[in-house]
Amino acid sequence: MEREGDQHYGQHADFVAAMARYMPGSTLHHGLACGSRTVDKTAADGRGLVWPMAGSDLIPTLTIAERVGDLVRIPSVNPLQAGPTSGDEGEVALSTWLAERAADLGADVTVDDVVDGRNNVYARFQGQTDRVITVDVHLDTVGVEHMTDPAFDGRIEDDRVYGRGSVDTKASLAIVLSVLEEMRASGEQPVPTLNVVGTVAEEMGGLIGAAGYRDWLQEHGSRIDQMIVAEPTMCAPVHGHKGGVGLEVTVHGHAAHSSKPHLGQNAISGAARIITAIDAEQERLDSIPPPTAVGNGSVAVLEVSGGVARNIIPPHCGLFAGRRCAPGEDPDLIFEQLSELVRQAAHPLKTDITLANGFAAAAFYQDPDSALVQLLAELAGTAPDVASYGSNALQYAKVASEIVVFGPGSIDQAHQAIEWIDIAEIDKATAIYRTLLRT
Ligand SMILES: [Zn+2]
Repeated sequence: MEREGDQHYGQHADFVAAMARYMPGSTLHHGLACGSRTVDKTAADGRGLVWPMAGSDLIPTLTIAERVGDLVRIPSVNPLQAGPTSGDEGEVALSTWLAERAADLGADVTVDDVVDGRNNVYARFQGQTDRVITVDVHLDTVGVEHMTDPAFDGRIEDDRVYGRGSVDTKASLAIVLSVLEEMRASGEQPVPTLNVVGTVAEEMGGLIGAAGYRDWLQEHGSRIDQMIVAEPTMCAPVHGHKGGVGLEVTVHGHAAHSSKPHLGQNAISGAARIITAIDAEQERLDSIPPPTAVGNGSVAVLEVSGGVARNIIPPHCGLFAGRRCAPGEDPDLIFEQLSELVRQAAHPLKTDITLANGFAAAAFYQDPDSALVQLLAELAGTAPDVASYGSNALQYAKVASEIVVFGPGSIDQAHQAIEWIDIAEIDKATAIYRTLLRT
């Protein structure tokens, strides 16, 4: 069943009609609202970005690198990290461009409105077999206001492509589309049926883009055999990373004149007992031998706010505790247990406790001996690895049989004041995808 907001089309003409419906009163190529932004509008909206279709030769790596630069020039900063340089239009221009490009390459394309007009794009390329691979590429980037290098110029210099999103994670998108284009030009169908999926809201906002794709799959009764979540891993197949549970806690005390503390109940003192208890819990977690290469769970208090004035016993104190979950840990159980720990520590003060982001994410863990991990390791000449960061993989356990986080370039260059990707990594990942789609 299609949800309201879905658009589905198989050919370009249908696509144009669908987009015209999707964005009433506008045409496809000029359909995007332009807000204030300090970058060039033509590039920013993806207008005029037409990649000439390949001939029968392989697309040169330098051309693919230039395409990564083209995608950098379509800003797609997560709206939660918007600022004067980025504008607040989010992923819309990139998702619109991706839908059009994928349709031009022969995909069945669905545009899925996740939230506030921010669209996931699901592009299905029919393969020779019914084995289904999804490559999930998050469309958003982190903010750019802290950058010391031009955010969106996408220049090539020193055998690198520069700009926000170059390594995290637009390179994977340019590469996969280029390989599909080469195959189409030579009349080849991929061996697996391939979904190229662009998701919104990975960098911030509770992974609701990936959750939207997961829900869409479940509504359509679909399962994915092999899921590649695109992130910069230096082409190593990442088979595990931690999940997370966040607790938002308010401690309720009782206000009194600060000269008579015995008449009040100090909420900050209650929060202090909670912090001490959580630090002790962290020490306990740290003493457990880690069951997998992903390591142990951990917990820390990360934010505190409280107090109303310097002559009042504080009646309220808020704090945020972040818990990283290791593989095998049940995040719902963790939330219950931590909540109990917080309540006992605060006693006799009362607490309100809510689950941050509305969901508790179990760790992502894929057996390193599984087929996709082994294949990617072999093709890349890398060893299976684990990551310290999280990804969209946290949302896909129920809909994918195998999940791997994989992509060119290093996470060390992601989110930085200067972001770049080595062209050699683009070359390596391109070769891997050329083989993967023929396997
Ligand atoms: Zn990323």
